Amino acid sequence: MTVVKRYINDFLHLFFPHNCAGCGTGILNTEDALCAECLNKLPATGFFSTPGNPVEKIFYGRLNIQKAGSAFYFTKESVIQQVIIQLKYKNNPQAGAYLGKLLGAQLKNSARFDDVDVIIPMPLNDRKLFKRGYNQSGMLVNGIVSVWNKPVLEGAVTRTLFTETQTHKNRIARWETIEGVFEVTEPNLLSNKHVLLVDDIVTTGATLEACGNAILKLPGSSLSLATLAYTV
Ligand SMILES: [Zn+2]
Repeated sequence: MTVVKRYINDFLHLFFPHNCAGCGTGILNTEDALCAECLNKLPATGFFSTPGNPVEKIFYGRLNIQKAGSAFYFTKESVIQQVIIQLKYKNNPQAGAYLGKLLGAQLKNSARFDDVDVIIPMPLNDRKLFKRGYNQSGMLVNGIVSVWNKPVLEGAVTRTLFTETQTHKNRIARWETIEGVFEVTEPNLLSNKHVLLVDDIVTTGATLEACGNAILKLPGSSLSLATLAYTV
């Protein structure tokens, strides 16, 4: 899809009724991504209020996190799978903002995350960002902060592919893995901060671990994680 087409599509999506991102049938108002039936089908995990939840267990012994959680269980052929497909592959960034609101409400309702200082969406590499036209985690974060008053530092951490030329930069926290090279480009803004890193889905935790390691190299930083979905 060309950039122009994408803008037109976004514009139409904003101002005209559209279909439910879960079932594709319901006709919705401008701000909703899901019909009431699909919204009720979303399987909330309750993880954010639960110390030692399955997401936190993924990172035991791997990454020194404060807290972690996911809003919904991800299962195949489910509403949440459909919405994530819409968000990642069907040019539907509004679905991200909508789901981000639901995620943000869960974070807000769990007092465990009150001491988060700043939110960072999981960065994409430039190639993926260009192809998709937006960062799906950034869309989730837009929704989160519309209901939970926290500052966002999108772009404070960048992600590049191994194949791209790496120029050496001093005093920048880097972490290299198969997931790419994560670099903290704004170390002064993240040092001594409790950072909440947000991603769409957690499975093995490899990407969150790699990005989190770059953040935790900063002096005084601490880290928590939040994802929209958790793979059972
Ligand atoms: Zn629906």
